Amino acid sequence: MARLPHTVEFAAMTIAKPLLMIPGPIEVSPAVTQAFSVPPPSHLAPSVIEAFGASLELMRKLWMAPPESQPFVLAGGGTAAMEMAVANLIEPEERVLVVNTGYFSSRLAEMLRRQGALVVEVEAPVGEGPSAQEIEAALVGLAELGPIKGLFATHVDTSTGVCLDPEPLARLARRYGALSVFDGVCATAAEEFRMEEWDADLYLTASQKAIGLPPGLALMVVSERALAARESRRATAPPMVLDWQQWLPIMGAYEERRPSYFSTPATNLILALPVSLREILADGPEARCDLHRSVATALRRAWQELGLEPVPRRAELVSNALSALRFPAGVDGSLVGRIAAEGVIVAGGLHPEIRGEYFRVGHMGYCLTQPAMIRRTVEAVAKALAAGGRPIDVDGAVEALGEFGDAAA
Ligand code: PMP
Repeated sequence: MARLPHTVEFAAMTIAKPLLMIPGPIEVSPAVTQAFSVPPPSHLAPSVIEAFGASLELMRKLWMAPPESQPFVLAGGGTAAMEMAVANLIEPEERVLVVNTGYFSSRLAEMLRRQGALVVEVEAPVGEGPSAQEIEAALVGLAELGPIKGLFATHVDTSTGVCLDPEPLARLARRYGALSVFDGVCATAAEEFRMEEWDADLYLTASQKAIGLPPGLALMVVSERALAARESRRATAPPMVLDWQQWLPIMGAYEERRPSYFSTPATNLILALPVSLREILADGPEARCDLHRSVATALRRAWQELGLEPVPRRAELVSNALSALRFPAGVDGSLVGRIAAEGVIVAGGLHPEIRGEYFRVGHMGYCLTQPAMIRRTVEAVAKALAAGGRPIDVDGAVEALGEFGDAAA
């Protein structure tokens, strides 16, 4: 058979493209795709300088951060952002508390240990979050040994779908004189975070989740207090590429719309960043989080209809950014492949203790504005369950979505 011309093959591939519904990377909006789909611009191009400066300003809005806070954007991902926070704030022998809700909190604790910190972890069983009382008791114990430098927590742990309320944690950190640092990789722009109101010190994320871009950017906003902590370090400076002092003049220049250079930014992604941030902020940060909450609630009804139980053990811990769902009795990891065969990519388990017992569906960003995508996801999961021989009411699950699964919308 004659080979199809390249362009036709490409068109056919595009039509058959599966829907990407993992907890990052995610489906991105057409305007975002258009913004990064250009020949690579120089980091000194006026369009890049404008996009960079505007993004820093927009980040303060999305983070609900005070004017004196400092946003940073650099090439990298969530792990690089975590590394930057740890490398700037923590020195050997300093005491820190980690609220551990899963795989990514454990990564944070390991980074802190490698930095030489004395790490105490407050853990909870898989699917649970430690209570404020347990966290305070750990802080009391730690404070008896000397000053506490930081309280670190994962806002939404992507391995379990457990969402913590950062507000009481930020307040506790203040009470014990510690900096509060939050990994918001799977939460920023999906779950509310009020940096100024809560007096939090650092909130970090990556571009490939609810920020709505492809992977490749590390983003964070840092409080004045945290910047001062970096300035008064006693030990050696952090590695150059992670050092805020190195990056501060660069961020300052971009915000003043002046060209600058330390290490080449991911210019195509920078062009797309303000496009996505403006989409997110069109009706304000609260409205975007409300949309995540509404779609997640509709999805919870659909999962319940399909007999799928969430990994988080209490309703108030369930994240609005992703669903971590236990396989029903008689179903195993092959379900993920059957869902893919229906044209929707979801993720397997990640937490080492329950890896083979659950799967994860991301619901962040652009897909929330597209009821057809939400509907297609539920249909794919329902049909895959039915293909395993279970009696499944596919229509009932779709109906449970209400307006968020309305194909006509
Ligand atoms: N923290 C959380 C909560 C995450 O979900 C992830 C990525 N899934 C990371 C950190 C690490 O981000 P990256 O893969 O971009 O390094």
